[in-house]
Amino acid sequence: MPLVSMRQLLDEAAKGRYGVGAFNVNNMEQIQAIMEAARETQSPVIVQASRGARSYSQDKFLYHLMLAAAELYPEIPTVLHLDHGNSVETCKSAIDLGFTSVMMDGSLMPDGKTPSTFEYNVEVTRQVVEMAHAKGVTVEGEIGVLGGIEDGHGAGGTGLEHVTDPDQAVEFVEKTGVDALAIAIGTSHGAYKFTKKPDGSVLKMDRLMDIHKRLPNVHLVMHGSSSVPKDLQDTINQYGGKLKQTWGVPIEEIQLGIKNGVRKINVDTDNRLAITGAIRKVFMETPEKFDPRDYLKPAREAMKKVVAERMTQFGQAGHAGDYSPISMKDMAQAYAGKTATK
Ligand SMILES: [Zn+2]
Repeated sequence: MPLVSMRQLLDEAAKGRYGVGAFNVNNMEQIQAIMEAARETQSPVIVQASRGARSYSQDKFLYHLMLAAAELYPEIPTVLHLDHGNSVETCKSAIDLGFTSVMMDGSLMPDGKTPSTFEYNVEVTRQVVEMAHAKGVTVEGEIGVLGGIEDGHGAGGTGLEHVTDPDQAVEFVEKTGVDALAIAIGTSHGAYKFTKKPDGSVLKMDRLMDIHKRLPNVHLVMHGSSSVPKDLQDTINQYGGKLKQTWGVPIEEIQLGIKNGVRKINVDTDNRLAITGAIRKVFMETPEKFDPRDYLKPAREAMKKVVAERMTQFGQAGHAGDYSPISMKDMAQAYAGKTATK
């Protein structure tokens, strides 16, 4: 099946009351790992690329790999999503290339570091919604500012400095018409999220529930939601790595989020850890090897295992065959109809 819109995936997830993992990619092996996990668990899936990924791989390579994925896994509804678009232009270039969903992160200025004003965020997001919906493309916005920095993107900090204000969230959705909304509830990008296992006082789950109550029809997105499991950290350190001990977002907190309107969960760090651990293991145990396949194959397998586990934990497993894809053209028409009747 062709690449599908994220809106359709998330609408279906809302109906079925499950979450969908959004996994970041930079290369062929990561895409293959995700698609194999999706096939094994029969999961719809969101594959996402950041600006960093697009420049690392060159847009076109990534896009054509995704077309190959859609061709080789026709039974899996697959979305290609832009993670953290920093400007209207970046989102436009992704839409022009064929991404079926984009994130306009107007919570930060185009430098990807400086927190912006509410008015700026509304204005750039609204522009992207207008442009994207005309082509049936989904838009994710962000209100509040996440913690941490990844791939040079982020305001730093702990994620508690700019927790999402529920009133602003409501106003933001009304003024922009976004399909999905990333909220800041204390999570951060990168591996070093928490220095101890986070509890209710660190992760603002009550805030999330409040936002969901006020916006029951908006698909909420949890960023920075790797769980950073200890065994993945241990494998890296066992084979010569030097990671400081760290904690991610516990699976049970994500599952609580899914019960309260979270439909998209972003996971990157866990997969990075799995890949690196597998490669280190080969290097340490068999230093005589030099064929890249000898370590990329186990790396791909290790990532697939993590992705399949998340798909099961988020509840998307078993749902790949629930629906047939709506074309991007029909999505565009549906959006146009909504605007006309407003
Ligand atoms: Zn993010």
